[in-house]
Amino acid sequence: MILKIPKNLNIENRPFINGSFKSLKTNKFLKRKSPSLDYSLPKLFLCRENEVNYAVNSAKNSFQDGLWKNKSSKEKKKIFLKVATKMKKKIQELSMLDCLETGRAINNFKRDSIPKAIEVIEYFAESIDKIYDNMTPLDLGSMNLITRKPLGVVVGITSWNDPLVPAMWKVCPAILMGNSIVMKPSELSSFSLLRLAEFFFEAGLPKGVLNVITGDGITAENLIQHKDTNGIYFTGSTKTGKKISQIASKNRIKKISLECGGKSSFIVSRNCTNLNKAAKTLAKNIFYNQGQICSAPSRLIIDKKISSLFFEKLFKETEKYIPKNPLDSNSEIGGLISKKHYQNVKKIFNIGLKEKNSVKIFNKKRWKKNYSFPPVIFYNLKNNSKLLQEEIFGPILSCIEYSDINEAIKIANNSQYGLASSIWSNNFEEIHYVSNLVEAGIIHINSYGEDGINIPFGGIKNSGFGRDKSIFAFQEYTYIKSIVYKP
Ligand code: NAD
Repeated sequence: MILKIPKNLNIENRPFINGSFKSLKTNKFLKRKSPSLDYSLPKLFLCRENEVNYAVNSAKNSFQDGLWKNKSSKEKKKIFLKVATKMKKKIQELSMLDCLETGRAINNFKRDSIPKAIEVIEYFAESIDKIYDNMTPLDLGSMNLITRKPLGVVVGITSWNDPLVPAMWKVCPAILMGNSIVMKPSELSSFSLLRLAEFFFEAGLPKGVLNVITGDGITAENLIQHKDTNGIYFTGSTKTGKKISQIASKNRIKKISLECGGKSSFIVSRNCTNLNKAAKTLAKNIFYNQGQICSAPSRLIIDKKISSLFFEKLFKETEKYIPKNPLDSNSEIGGLISKKHYQNVKKIFNIGLKEKNSVKIFNKKRWKKNYSFPPVIFYNLKNNSKLLQEEIFGPILSCIEYSDINEAIKIANNSQYGLASSIWSNNFEEIHYVSNLVEAGIIHINSYGEDGINIPFGGIKNSGFGRDKSIFAFQEYTYIKSIVYKP
């Protein structure tokens, strides 16, 4: 069944500043259509200096008046849990907003992404009264405290592929630690976060603590370079991440955290006793959301000895990920975010064909009205192939074979990225060896992507630095203050 877009769907497109939606006088905006459906989206305002100043000043005032910062953990928790409850009632509406803007299957949002965002809010709310500061060993007559303090006004900038989850990874620890935040979601997916800002305010968050402004890279740069912003928390491409690290401290030094791109490896050893599960897990994680997931395992590094058997299984599993209408109640796979992104994926696909690699394309009965791309598997690649080095962010899996496990590790580490990785083996020594030597922020053993909200997430090398999720995230939004007492 194809779900209908409700006629009375109320899409709020004005920036949320100082506790309410603000109408703008600007004539700068983007006109957009849903990438997957014949549906015109409301225009997206491009906030500029005036709106950026307004949002940062509101955040600064709310930080200085201390109304939020000084609330008890119990009160903070209560407000957050109210937001989570409201979201549970609004899953359908939030999913529809995200589906219309991104072209990703509505089922992904209903069953996975929005419930995950709710889980993030609940987790951080429940954690805030369970974290402790430190004290040094007591020498007679002295007492040294090591405490964490909020930074003040911080900025969150996020990508389009999962509009609410990474945004909540930032908003929750930031404001629970007492900061005020200005969020700038992607210009391609802003509506659900605007709605959520309103939920927080209705639940009791004082005005100015959470502001959401719409806009593009120029808007983000204005925020980054603003004299009153003290921390920059980014999720997006490596290209933009590099730019941010160059400009963030141009005028004065700021704390930054960068969650960037990846080319994550999936190593399957001859010692793996469950190839069925490995094939199923790989297909699910690389082709879910058309490969538009930062940590998608886009490089298969497969033991030569078992490769034919494994590909047989993998090809079968891949058949399950053919794109359909994103509003189809039986679909899990929608399309790519835009025509531009479709063209980028096509370009690298053509390079793969030109390199004369072995390839399997899963083109059967694809829904062609959106910018969907068929799942593609390139195999028997040489390690210098562009397909193994560049993040494609599409449904293309690049595969290379190895003869011994040291070679597999070398291939895995021969990458500018270091976000996630996986080893499939039932030999304990091999698992231990590989998981210690592969360079990545997370390594999954005989699984993939099953890291819950209590596991830190983030990369190394060109995948960035800083950690989202878990109680370690609280550290990102604070500075350490040492209080030294000597009588
Ligand atoms: P992008 O870098 O184009 O945009 C991300 C955000 O940065 C957007 O809000 C955009 O408006 C803003 N931006 C654009 N130009 C800017 C500039 N000059 N200065 C500051 N901000 C600027 O990325 P995208 O296309 O939205 O997202 C896809 C990328 O995000 C992929 O590379 C993916 O791997 C990465 N990603 C990483 C994670 C992670 O946790 N590591 C999660 C999701 C996505």
